[in-house]
Amino acid sequence: MRNHSRQMTGVLAVGVLAVGLIIAFAVRAAPPTSADAVAFLARVEAQLAADSEYSNRAGWVQETYITSDTSWLVAKVNAATTDRLVSFAKEAIRFDHVPVDEVSARKLYLLKQALVMPASSRPGASQELSDIQARLDTDYSTAKFNYQDRLLTLDDMEEILRTSRNPDETRTLWEGWRAVASPQMTIDYARLIALANEGARELGYADTGVLWRSWYDMPPQAFAAKVDALWAQTAPLYAKLHCFVRAQLSRQYGVAVQPATGPIRADLLGNMWSQSWGNVYDVVAPKGMSLGYDVTAALQSHGYDAVKIVHTADHWYQSIGFAPLPATFWERSLFTRPRDREVVCHPSAWDIDNKEDLRLKGCLTVTADDFYTAHHELGHLMYQRAYAAHSILFASGANDGFHEAIGDFAALNALTPTYLKELGLIDNVPGPESDIPYLLRMALDKIAIIPFAIIVDKWRWGVFAGQITPEHYNDAWWDLVSRYQNLMPPGPRSADAFDPGAKFHVADSTPYARYFLADLYEFQFYRDACRLAGWKGPLNRCSIYGDKNVGAKFAAMLQLGQSKPWPEALASFGGERDIDAAAIIEYFAPLSAWLDRQNRGQSCKK
Ligand SMILES: [Zn+2]
Repeated sequence: MRNHSRQMTGVLAVGVLAVGLIIAFAVRAAPPTSADAVAFLARVEAQLAADSEYSNRAGWVQETYITSDTSWLVAKVNAATTDRLVSFAKEAIRFDHVPVDEVSARKLYLLKQALVMPASSRPGASQELSDIQARLDTDYSTAKFNYQDRLLTLDDMEEILRTSRNPDETRTLWEGWRAVASPQMTIDYARLIALANEGARELGYADTGVLWRSWYDMPPQAFAAKVDALWAQTAPLYAKLHCFVRAQLSRQYGVAVQPATGPIRADLLGNMWSQSWGNVYDVVAPKGMSLGYDVTAALQSHGYDAVKIVHTADHWYQSIGFAPLPATFWERSLFTRPRDREVVCHPSAWDIDNKEDLRLKGCLTVTADDFYTAHHELGHLMYQRAYAAHSILFASGANDGFHEAIGDFAALNALTPTYLKELGLIDNVPGPESDIPYLLRMALDKIAIIPFAIIVDKWRWGVFAGQITPEHYNDAWWDLVSRYQNLMPPGPRSADAFDPGAKFHVADSTPYARYFLADLYEFQFYRDACRLAGWKGPLNRCSIYGDKNVGAKFAAMLQLGQSKPWPEALASFGGERDIDAAAIIEYFAPLSAWLDRQNRGQSCKK
């Protein structure tokens, strides 16, 4: 249910640029002027807009029809795009000391940091990088595991993990996915990292991890410190939840399967990566503490299918004033896994032409998870449409965490019982006695993901920096899993295992810190929205469904795109200027007190 969007990566912040490159350009006869900068940016933006539509269309065809030919085509297009962006980024350095207007200055900054995986200008480098990336993507997306004489796709395996309460079965699937998704990936991955670092250094960054940390309107080292500080704010709540869940799993499965102390077994949490634990709510909730309804069952019994779920999500956005999705969206999107071809099932939102050709791609099922996914993905599309009036360098999210948070904010509203009743999915809004079950269900997703969303990039930052070498890829991964998530694998890992590669965003080179930021932003947006709506009462019961005033203010923030630093965008909605975990802590405060009572007598230490 975690996804990525095909936006050009959100950027700004201060990049340290190579002195060597400045000297290389200094031999030009006349120094560049501010008029040259404006002309340069106009040329760049026209080219990028054309490139973007071309590569989006090629990418769409490849991801909805994976063959050796479509993979070849998309690798070629991506190599050309990378070359072009590297050359533009280097050319932008010419204007480092030219006084330019504010808009041009921001565009030059954004341009210099626009690549996620840069290649160097060495001939062949970008093509090699694109070829490896295409291979990793294809291997991941087409991997299948033979289980009980059935060849299972990842979504088949996720469906079994969601509901299986047999620890032998969950272990087999957990290990099986890792055996087929990322075997032999290490050598390719190490080469990919080396190529991207070569490109990053040419652009003046010590390594690609430094480039990734420069996207947040603050110096890279300040961003790393910010992540640590936000973790310090949220770690105590995670530890309480972990302690409670461990005790319940131990009760269910016995101490031979789940010991009463120490780490939780990763395959017992209802999710292939243990990143969200909501699927084991039925196992961990105390007896008799029911939510009062089951969203998956309600969707199924009310005749929902994938398309109806997406229509419902579109309806939520319309209720706060957004225009309906265009007819082409319904004609061109891919909602379910086709039977006759390989596709990239991982959900994503596409803005093909940077105007109105919006699409969703995913293999949705009729579950609460995909009800959530639909709201999440449409959030990307609403954002894309809101900033489409900007020229391409500003037509992006305030940062990539913002982009992920928009739809999560919508889903937080759409999952409230008040709204589910509005849809007719449940008959009654449960009373205050259901608040703790509701918050527990939410925390199993929203709190559980926090350490996971930190380590995916902590691990990559270490890999990019050369602190984690290929022979230690897997050990270093488990060190982080153990330290932050306090989980363990169901059995010993083999020497050649590459477990991070069994996560889409690692195989696909999609940065992950955005999901950590989004998890905090969404609660800030939600609390801000509820304040604007004049909501009084427990935060978890607030729903802004139908509130066009709040919707208009929200839309105004989205319309800024990337034209302003993200603190300004944030402040334009709710007045706060910084990312802060206070909102998520406030939301879960009643649950936190309840967990303290539940954990009494337990040894909650690691
Ligand atoms: Zn997303």
